[in-house]
Amino acid sequence: MLDLIIVGAGPAGLTAALYASRAGANVLVLDGGAPGGKLNLTAEIENYPGTKMKGPELAYSMYEQCLSFGAKQEYGEVTKIENKEDYKIVYVGDKSYEARYVLIATGTKERKMNIPLEEEMTGRGVSYCAVCDGPFFKGKTVTVIGGGNSAIEESIYLSDIAEKVNIIVRRDVLRADQYLVDKLKQKENIEIHFLKKPYSIEVTDQKVTGLVVSDSKTEELSTITTQGIFPFIGLDPITDFVKNLDIIDEYGYILVDENQETKVSGIFAAGDVTSKQLRQVVTATNDGAIAGQYIASLLK
Ligand code: NDP
Repeated sequence: MLDLIIVGAGPAGLTAALYASRAGANVLVLDGGAPGGKLNLTAEIENYPGTKMKGPELAYSMYEQCLSFGAKQEYGEVTKIENKEDYKIVYVGDKSYEARYVLIATGTKERKMNIPLEEEMTGRGVSYCAVCDGPFFKGKTVTVIGGGNSAIEESIYLSDIAEKVNIIVRRDVLRADQYLVDKLKQKENIEIHFLKKPYSIEVTDQKVTGLVVSDSKTEELSTITTQGIFPFIGLDPITDFVKNLDIIDEYGYILVDENQETKVSGIFAAGDVTSKQLRQVVTATNDGAIAGQYIASLLK
């Protein structure tokens, strides 16, 4: 029986693992992907105090630090968590693990545009990760969808690789922070198309050649010539596997108290997957520290 199983190895999960294992707990971190979560998809982290690093570098440094205090890590996608009176069972396919406490730190996944050919062309011109796929579009035209912090930040990143970056915004204003908007204005190869919504994808010879957009007011259709499409239109929580526990709000985010505990005793959540205002690396690590330290104190 483990003391704590952490589901999700992003900044929240890794920080909880650091605090709990450093306080002597026997901790296992499970994740279906590489440790670091969304840090691995982020070019530059410039608002985590005291550091200016590439996302994957910060991810690796957090990962190494929690392993150095004895936390263990395994790959595996958790499919269900079962609540027993004084322990929990965590299922990974047909395998299962038991622990006194469980912390859910699975974060969020990219929202899809839900337009024709989006799924078929993912990885063949449609991408949700500028850092991963941006280099394929050197000297080409790419189109980013969205007006939030992600869309603007990634457009700035892509503008150093692609010849031209179009941004499609469904309203007539950007939602992104002013600091990023100011940075965007300095880029000469970025064009913003306000009041446009993605409608369909044009494909020629199995390659993306254009994005058809509809006008938000008149619904008139027009085509933007582009070889790459990068949707950054928001995020949805990864909580399908905890539906049986009745701990999520109407949007799918997990509700927690000041110790990051859900209404199910012994089941905690931290980071972007929880219901909160500000989803940042710094707030994820904050949640993870609170949960890790509190869980360790329960084991004493
Ligand atoms: P946001 O929800 O902030 O923005 C989503 C954007 O996509 C909005 O412009 C929205 O338009 C638009 N949109 C939503 N649905 C559609 C659709 N179906 N078609 C077209 N456009 C659509 O998401 P982000 O991913 O940008 O950010 C998520 C969170 O992460 C935020 O809290 C953000 O602040 C944070 N973040 C912070 C960063 C930083 O501080 N450096 C970097 C990246 C993210 P509308 O405005 O009309 O709703």
